[in-house]
Amino acid sequence: MIIDSHVHIYPPEVIRDVEKIGCSEPHFSELTSCRIHRWAGAEDVIAKMDEEGVDVSWVFGFAFNDLGLCRLCNDYVIDSVKRFPHRLRGLAVVPPLARGFEEEAIRCREEGLIGIGEIFPQGQNFDLTDIRQTWKLAGVADELGMFLLIHSAEPVGHDYAGKGNVCPGEAAEFCIHHPEVRVLFAHFGGGLWLYELMPEMKLALSNVWYDSAAWPWLYEPSILAAIEAAGLEDKILFGSDFPILACSRYFDRLKSSRVSEKTAEKFLSLNALSLLEGQG
Ligand SMILES: [Zn+2]
Repeated sequence: MIIDSHVHIYPPEVIRDVEKIGCSEPHFSELTSCRIHRWAGAEDVIAKMDEEGVDVSWVFGFAFNDLGLCRLCNDYVIDSVKRFPHRLRGLAVVPPLARGFEEEAIRCREEGLIGIGEIFPQGQNFDLTDIRQTWKLAGVADELGMFLLIHSAEPVGHDYAGKGNVCPGEAAEFCIHHPEVRVLFAHFGGGLWLYELMPEMKLALSNVWYDSAAWPWLYEPSILAAIEAAGLEDKILFGSDFPILACSRYFDRLKSSRVSEKTAEKFLSLNALSLLEGQG
């Protein structure tokens, strides 16, 4: 079984009004105007899944600053999951400082969505290390039994559109403030997993998982073997960042990473299932 935990879909209205929306949403404008950007709707995702042998995808819209735009994306995700209930599971996008975001999260949970994300702290103008700005988001996620998917990136290396300022230090601080919340950090947590080799950080990060989104652009295949060697093979989830990257590129990397068959199986599906365990 293969679960892709990191897939972006966009409602037709957002694709149609991209320029207009971009005027008031600079982060959206930056990401969608860059050369590598691609659009996809639910049907495109299903077609690609069939082609590449993916069983289930976790899909979400774009985390805007504007709650109304987030709602539009969530409506589309909810509808898509209803149309393809055996293939898609959905996450909600919310702006964590906007009035009324809690109600939107509740609505999405009642509609069956499983998490909140992919949240962009820098793009959504909030500070992930400031507990005064994060307690509501953490509380809502915990109370509703939804995990958080948060964008994170490397503190070193090349720059790219949307890299942002959430690196291992910022990500860890959020987890120290909110140890009860289950968090999936995108893009290998920007390297946060390495610090699970420190006993106090292993404890602080016990509810944390990492996804592999953008792997082909960031790391050598051997990063997966390094994670396995660190004893963290239960914490890494396959996520493709489709439509900007295809799954086949990850499967090639997985093959050349030379991890055990058991680790590969955990990466491709078992860890995603255990992240969801107990939340219904
Ligand atoms: Zn991301």
